Amino acid sequence: MSENDYLMIAPCGFNCENCAQYQKVKNSCEGCRIRTTKKSQICTMKNCDKNTQTNKNISLCMECDKFPCRRLREFDKRYQKITNGYLSVIENLREIEKYGVEKFLKKEKSKWTCPQCGSRLCVTSNICSSCGFLYRK
Ligand SMILES: [Zn+2]
Repeated sequence: MSENDYLMIAPCGFNCENCAQYQKVKNSCEGCRIRTTKKSQICTMKNCDKNTQTNKNISLCMECDKFPCRRLREFDKRYQKITNGYLSVIENLREIEKYGVEKFLKKEKSKWTCPQCGSRLCVTSNICSSCGFLYRK
């Protein structure tokens, strides 16, 4: 495992590749760990003391003794609601812990690739932005 494998995974377990801010063509975000948007700069999990004290490039929330903390649980709930249960960042972190980041990323790729046209899917939409395929409820 190299640090690069973690580059697209935010400390909270969110995969930045599936984010609308990352996918947009103009002024896109490069991910929470690289060049970020204003929104992620103020992110409470990314800027959590526990996180900034450890190795920034590979720190993930499940390494914390407070995992899953209230903030993370609320964030997780929000995304479960938006995606109708398709995305749980806490579940992502548990999978990384259990199977390793390499396996996780492989699974993520198939989970977030449109089965109809092969485009990358986005958490905030239940249809593929390229072909309109409905990939989740
Ligand atoms: Zn598609």
